[in-house]
Formats: sequence, structure tokens, C-alpha cells
Amino acid sequence: MDELSTFCNELKGIMGNSTELSIEKARKIVQSLNEFLYARYPDIGTTNVLDAAYDYISDFHKYWERHYKEILNVRIDDSNCEKVADALHLVFQKTNGHAFSQVWDTCGLRPEDVCRVRLFTANQDFRGSRAFSELAEIFRDDDTIFDEDKIIRDPAGFINDLGLSDLSQNDKRETYALKIAEFVKARNVSPYELISCFNNNVYDLRNALINCVSSGYGNKKADMFVRDMVVLNIWTNVVGFEKIDVASDVNTIKVALKTGVLKTSIPLVSSFLDIFCYQYGYMDEMNAKAWRRVWEIWNEKFPTECVQSPCLMDYFVYEVIGKQFCKESLAVYKCDTYDHSFKWHSARISTCRICHKEGRKGFTATCIKKVMPCCDPDGAIAILQSKYVLKLPQNEKMEECPFKNVCDSNNARNLQPPKSISILGQTGWTTAYSNKGCGGGGLMA
Ligand SMILES: [Zn+2]
Ligand SMILES: [Zn+2]
Repeated sequence: MDELSTFCNELKGIMGNSTELSIEKARKIVQSLNEFLYARYPDIGTTNVLDAAYDYISDFHKYWERHYKEILNVRIDDSNCEKVADALHLVFQKTNGHAFSQVWDTCGLRPEDVCRVRLFTANQDFRGSRAFSELAEIFRDDDTIFDEDKIIRDPAGFINDLGLSDLSQNDKRETYALKIAEFVKARNVSPYELISCFNNNVYDLRNALINCVSSGYGNKKADMFVRDMVVLNIWTNVVGFEKIDVASDVNTIKVALKTGVLKTSIPLVSSFLDIFCYQYGYMDEMNAKAWRRVWEIWNEKFPTECVQSPCLMDYFVYEVIGKQFCKESLAVYKCDTYDHSFKWHSARISTCRICHKEGRKGFTATCIKKVMPCCDPDGAIAILQSKYVLKLPQNEKMEECPFKNVCDSNNARNLQPPKSISILGQTGWTTAYSNKGCGGGGLMA
């Protein structure tokens, strides 16, 4: 019998015929619940995480490893994908494609130098990093810091020169720096010329980066690096660009769940139940596939009014929709003196704007709630003041989230993306173990 069935039978045994628990039974239930979720025992077995074997946290986590896929049952919904594709197409038309072609400032560096700086630093972007403008400054001061031979000789020096050695996990940073420098060195070309080793195929280069063990280039980092090189026109006439996925993250997953391009059979479980990140990894993978499906439909229906690759939906879906539109940015205020209320795009004001307008200066108001712009008839108040819309020319301005109607019909706005729990470090779960019969365990802030 599987662990979950055993546990449920145990609960059934304790309950017996009673419908309400006596205190003795309640104690037994709390103990079993705690042990099932959070206690290990000598022969519980191990699971592999980051190339090492760890004991399962509990029987639940053992069960979850084998069954998370069938329990969550994540699906891509084609009809919602089409609605989102249509909405993106309208944005493309309205903005002449500009909504999808945002590029970051390369701070005056030459294309080959942007490529070098980016390749050797994108893998250092975790738990604190340096903005590209800061890295460009370091490069201008002393470009020898970014030389592959120099990095190979002294990876710790490289991390130090970037000013990253005060941040956590230096060993990991040094390994990443070394491995990616060796990747370039092994091919005897500069980072900029790397693409020629792969016959201009960005997808092949991306896969080679991912296969470069311990270089810190996973799917997401490799995709973003390649995307940037193409978007910045550093690499031109490339092939395989359409195979690069959206960089999946909690913001793009959030939008996928709310619009219903991704569906799960139950709302996602808390990270406490997903300590080994099975759910997180699964959602991450399915999310990239779902956005690829959106792109396929969009490209099929409107081939001349579509972006060249799913990865180009990134900026708009992640930054504009995910971070600016799809959040509780519309604040509802109530006057502290009179019986009236108003809405505003900031929750930080204290003046009653109605009293002020009517000539009663200095009366105060209190923010009573914050809502998402797409859930309120006055949502335009917040959307028009978002960073993205503020910068648009008058004729391109939008007053509501382009996905509003899709979310309205999908009716799943409350769904939240998964969280991942840290493995190592002070609050990591490796410090959370407890043993059956001993009690205790868990995390301390
Ligand atoms: Zn007032
Ligand atoms: Zn919305």
C-alpha cells in the first residue's frame, strides 16, 4: 500500500465510528499528521538533490515524489492559448510590434564586448548580482578582468573583481566562472565568435551551454543569454531562434494560471509540501511549453504579425503583464470625515482627493483595500499610471490589461504560482529534519 493510503487508514482507525474527536483521539491525529508530513525514520530511503543523496523529510515527501504529476495533472488548454494568442496579436498590431522589442541599454560597449561580459556574468545572477551598467563600468576600467585565460587561472580573483565575493555561495560562483571560461577556451574562439562553432545555430549553442556541467547555465539562463544576443543584433543571420522558449518564472506562471493556458486539477500545494521542488520544476517546464503553444497558434494565425520566437514574448508577459498589470495596484480610499470614497493608483497618499477638489483642503482619507485593475470598472486609473503605459505614445496607450477578457472567462484570478524552498543555508530544509518519536524539527527564521 502507498504511504498516503497507509496514513489515511491510520486516521480512519483512530476516528473509528466517532464523528467528533475526544482529546485522546485528537492527540493521536496531531501526532500522526506531524509524523506523516515531517518526520523521518532510519530506513526511510533517500532522494537525489543537487547531485547528492538526502533522506526523505517524511513519508509524505516520498509519496509526493512518485505521484506529484498525476495528482497535479497539469494541462495546456488550447482554447485559452488561442484567446491569449489573439490578445497578444492585438497588442502587436496596436504597437507595431514595439511591445515585444524592448532592449536593454548596452552602455556603449562594442557588440563583442557586450557578448563577453554577458556570457561570463549571466551565470552569476543569483542571490544578488550586478546590473549590466555596473559590469560595463568594470569592463571599461579594466577589460583584462574578463579574459578567459585570466579567469581560468584565478576564478576567485574574477569573482572578487566583480565585487561579488561578499555575496553568498562563493564556491559555487568560482566553479561557474571557471567552467564557462573553459567552455570558451576549449573552442579557441572569443565569446562573440562562439556562434560560428555552431553554424550560427543558436539552439545548438544553447544546448551546449546547458550541457556544460556546473557552469550555472540552466535552460532559463541559456535561453535568456541567446535571446539577448539576437535581440541586440550582436548575432545576426542565426537559425534555430524559434526554438528558444520564454524564460519561465513565477510571473509568467502566474499569468499562465490566471488566463488558464495552464490548468491543474487542484490549486498548487504549499512549498512546505514540495520541499524537493518537484511541483516547481514541473510547473516551470509546463509553463514554457504552454507559452510555446500560445506562440505556435499566434504564428499560425498571423504569420506576418507575430514575434519570431516564443522567447520574445518574455518582456511583455513577464515585465508588463506579470509585474505591472497583474497585481493589486488600484487603491480604494475612504474619506476619514465624510461619507465618500475614491480610487487612486498609489496606496501611499493621505489626502482626501474629493474634499481637496471641493475646496476643503487638508482632509485625510484611508486606503481601505487594494484590488487588481482588471477586477474593477475604474482599473484604467492604475493601468494608465503603470511604468509601461506612461511611456507609450498617446495613440498606443491601453486602459486595461490585454488579457482581461481571457481571465474574466477563465475565472481563476485567485490562483497563485508555486514557491520554491531553499535547500541549503540557514533556512534551508536540510536543517529541518526531525525523527519519528523525537518531535521538534522544522525551520526557524
Ligand atoms: Zn473627503
Ligand atoms: Zn488580470
